[in-house]
Amino acid sequence: MDLGLKGKVALVSAASKGLGYGVARALAADGALVSICSRDQASVDAAAAKLKDETGADVLASVCDVTKPEAIQAWVDKTVAQWGVIDALLVNAGGPPAGLVKDLTDAQWQAAFELTLMSTVRMIRAVLPHMKNGGSILTITSSSIKEPIERLGLSTVMRSGVAGLVKTLADELAGDNIRVNNLIPGRIDTERVAQLDQGAAQRSGKSFEQVRAESIAKIPLKRLGTIDDFGKAAAYLLSPAAEYVTGASLRVDGGAMRSI
Ligand code: NAP
Repeated sequence: MDLGLKGKVALVSAASKGLGYGVARALAADGALVSICSRDQASVDAAAAKLKDETGADVLASVCDVTKPEAIQAWVDKTVAQWGVIDALLVNAGGPPAGLVKDLTDAQWQAAFELTLMSTVRMIRAVLPHMKNGGSILTITSSSIKEPIERLGLSTVMRSGVAGLVKTLADELAGDNIRVNNLIPGRIDTERVAQLDQGAAQRSGKSFEQVRAESIAKIPLKRLGTIDDFGKAAAYLLSPAAEYVTGASLRVDGGAMRSI
């Protein structure tokens, strides 16, 4: 199926590795012009070089810490200066730290609010004036918005706010032909998930391999997802092929979530 992404301009934040990189690669492979960012110049440059190598696509790399409003604006301005318009935005950022709610400080709550919720609001606000031909916006949350995960209270609370924002904006922006959707990753094989499993292994006294095997046993499709699995779902929702889909949350979890 032709997703209709050829020549479309797509921004993908937090894309030097992991889920963001997987989405950027899927978009680039389908012919989109992709503008990626992350906080570290060397990492984002290396990711852009790899993307060009793997897909032959035109990629713009920028340093942008999405907790900084002025950095978001500069990234968007640079992309518009290069390509004139924005058709798609994938909103991503690093995850807030793990910890029990009783131990989390006000400063940690404020930082998670800025990292997860306000970065989403600001990225969306910054691209809207440039989505002149309509557009598609996609957020990434977590299965924790449906089934809270142990020690990830910050993520659960802030990402539930993102899910509410998505549904609200789907209504507010439909008149401008801008669609807003959300992807729910289950366990996709990235460095962050490996770090979380490493932490679980240390706390439980089990080996990393044992923790991994137990987690995979709970997934009906019996494997972790890959960033390609995730990227393909994202590319569809960000593309014109999904023109009648808005306000939706799609699970990419191998069937792991138990809620109907
Ligand atoms: P990852 O492998 O750790 O990659 C994180 C990416 O985000 C890197 O490219 C990093 O690059 C960039 N980044 C981090 N903080 C940033 C910031 N403030 N501004 C701009 N870029 C930033 O993580 P991941 O597994 O891909 O996860 C991505 C998001 O999805 C996280 O919020 C995570 O909690 C969430 N999530 C993932 C899963 C999963 O299965 N993987 C499941 C549920 C939720 P730099 O270090 O260069 O900035």
